[in-house]
Amino acid sequence: MNFDVVIIGSGAGGGMTALSLCEQGFKVCVLERGKQFDPRKDFILNHADWENREDPLKEANLKEQTINQQFRTKIEVDGIKEFRTPLRYHRVHGVGGSTLHYQGEAHRFPTHAFNNRQIFGWGTDWPINYSDLAPYYQQAEHLLGVAGETGNPFKVDRGEFPTPTHALSKRSQVLAKSAKEIGMSLLPNTLALPSISIDGRTPCQHSGGCNFGCIFGAKSSIDQAIIPRAEKTGNLTLLSETRALKLVLDQNGDIQAVECQSTIRDFKITAKAYVLATGAIETPRLMLHSSYANNNDQVGRYFMETVIASLALELEADFQTFRGPPLDSRVWDFSKPENENISGYVLGNSGYLYPAIGPSSHAITSQGIGRQHKHAVRSSFGRNVQLFGIAEQEPVSSNRVTLSKYFDDMGIPKVDVNCAYSERDLHTISEMNNKLQKWAEATPTKSIGLASDSRYRSSATHVGGTCRMGSDPKHSVVDAFGKVHKQSNCYITDASVFVTQGAGDSPSLTIQALALRTADKIANDLKLSK
Ligand SMILES: Cc1cc2nc3c(=O)[nH]c(=O)nc-3n(C[C@H](O)[C@H](O)[C@H](O)COP(=O)(O)OP(=O)(O)OC[C@H]3O[C@@H](n4cnc5c(N)ncnc54)[C@H](O)[C@@H]3O)c2cc1C
Ligand code: SF4
Repeated sequence: MNFDVVIIGSGAGGGMTALSLCEQGFKVCVLERGKQFDPRKDFILNHADWENREDPLKEANLKEQTINQQFRTKIEVDGIKEFRTPLRYHRVHGVGGSTLHYQGEAHRFPTHAFNNRQIFGWGTDWPINYSDLAPYYQQAEHLLGVAGETGNPFKVDRGEFPTPTHALSKRSQVLAKSAKEIGMSLLPNTLALPSISIDGRTPCQHSGGCNFGCIFGAKSSIDQAIIPRAEKTGNLTLLSETRALKLVLDQNGDIQAVECQSTIRDFKITAKAYVLATGAIETPRLMLHSSYANNNDQVGRYFMETVIASLALELEADFQTFRGPPLDSRVWDFSKPENENISGYVLGNSGYLYPAIGPSSHAITSQGIGRQHKHAVRSSFGRNVQLFGIAEQEPVSSNRVTLSKYFDDMGIPKVDVNCAYSERDLHTISEMNNKLQKWAEATPTKSIGLASDSRYRSSATHVGGTCRMGSDPKHSVVDAFGKVHKQSNCYITDASVFVTQGAGDSPSLTIQALALRTADKIANDLKLSK
C-alpha cells in the first residue's frame, strides 16, 4: 500500500497526529511497538484480587528499561557529591502509549510558560506563543471531552469546557480548607476523564484506578478516544506489535524508509512523509542509532525529567481517600515564578501512598502483628494522602540522552541519560518541600509521614526536551512547526520537542495540541508537493 505518512508511535502525540491527518484525507500508517489492550479483558480492577494479579500495563512499562541502569549522573546533595540513582523510564508500550496509564490531567500551559525570558528577563523562550497553540488546545480538549470549569484565576480566560467539572473528592475538600488557611487555593483539576458520555463512551465512574487502565474505557486515553475515530475515516492502517528498528536514509540524509520488525516478519515501509512520536527518550535514541539529522550535535540535548517533592499524611478521619479521580485538584498559585532563582511549580494530592495502593498492599505495609496489625490497618485505611509538588526542570544542554555501550535484545544500543540539577532546580525543590510541610501542618492529621523528592527518588514520568523546537538549528532540532531542520520529509510530534515544561503542568494536552498543529503543517506540505 502507498502511504502518505508513516507515524512511529501511537501515544499522546502520535495518536493525535494520526487522527488529524486521517480526517484530512491522508493515508496513514501507524507503527506501534506494543499491543492493543482491551480494557474489559486485559485490565485488572474488575477482579476482587486485582492487587495479586500481574498488571499488564506495569509489564508493558518496565519490562525493558531503555535507560542503561549502570550510568550515573554526578550530583551534589546537601553539599555532598554523589551519584544519582539512574532514572527509570515510566512509559507504556501499547496502542495509546503512556496515556494508557496516565491519570488524565489535561492542562493548557500558562501563557508565561512560553516566554519566560521575554516576560521576566531570564529562562528560555519557545519559538511560539500561547496564542499559536490556543485553537489546537481547544480542538484537543473537545476530542478528549476534558472536564473542567472556567474562572481559574491562574489560567488564561477561555471558553466553556466540553464536559462539566468533577465534584471534589472528600480528601480534596479537606485539603482545600487547609490550603485556604495558608493562603493557597486548591482548585478542581482539568481532566481528560469525561464527566458525561461523549462518543457513546461510559463517563468517568470515580473509581480512582486510572493508573491501572480504565476498565470502563471512560478515560480518554488515545486508544479509546482517538484511534477509533481515526479508524472510522478508513484512512488508518495501525500495525501494533511492530517496532521501528532504524531509519533508512538516502544520499541527502533524508528518510527513505523505516526498517521494522513485527511478530511475523521484518520489513521496510515507505511513505511521502515520516513522523517520529516514540517519546522523549526513544525518539532521540532512534535518531542517534540511525545517524539522522544530528550534524549540530543537538539530538538528545536539553533533556528534562519530572522534578517532584512529596509528603505523606494520615488524615485524622476516614475520608475514603482512594475514591475520586486520582488527581482531582491542583494548587496553581506558584505557577508564575517569583524570581529567577525559582521555577514555576504546582502542588496537588493523590489518595494513595506508594507502594500501598489497595487494601492488601496497605495491610502488607502496615506495622505490627496480630490484633495490633489489624487495628493499624483498620484505623488507617482511607486516610492516607500524598501531597506533592511538580516543577519544571531548567533546560540545560549537558542534560542529555546519548547512546550507551550496552545493547537491548535486538542489538540496538540503550541510552545513557545524564540528568543533573541546576541551582534553580534545587532551590525550587526546597521551596516545594517548605510549602508541602506548611500545608501538612495546617491540615487536621493523625500523623505527618516521610518527605521525599527527586534528589532521592528519580521519576522519569513527564520527560521532555531532547529534540527541542527552535528557530536556530545550532540550538534545536525541529522548527516552530515540528519539522526537522534542513530535512525535507520528517516531523516530530512527541514530548521531545518541548522547550520547557510549562511550570509543572502536565504535558499531554500540550503534546497533543502541538501534534495537531504539526499535522496541519504536514497536510499543507503534502498538498504543496502534489
Ligand atoms: C504514571 C504516569 C501518570 C501520568 N499522568 C499524566 C497525566 O495525568 N497527564 C499528563 O498530561 N501526563 C501524564 N503522564 C505523562 C504522559 O503520559 C506522557 O508525557 C505522554 O504520554 C508522552 O507522550 P509521547 O507522545 O511523548 O509518548 P508516549 O505516550 O510514551 O508514546 C510513545 C509511543 O511510541 C511507542 N514506541 C516507542 N518506541 C517505538 C518504536 N521503536 N517503534 C514503534 N513504536 C515505538 C511506544 O510503545 C508508545 O506507544 C503520566 C505519566 C506516568 C508515567
Ligand atoms: S477514575 Fe474514572 S477514568 Fe479513572 S479509571 Fe476510574 S472510572 Fe476510569
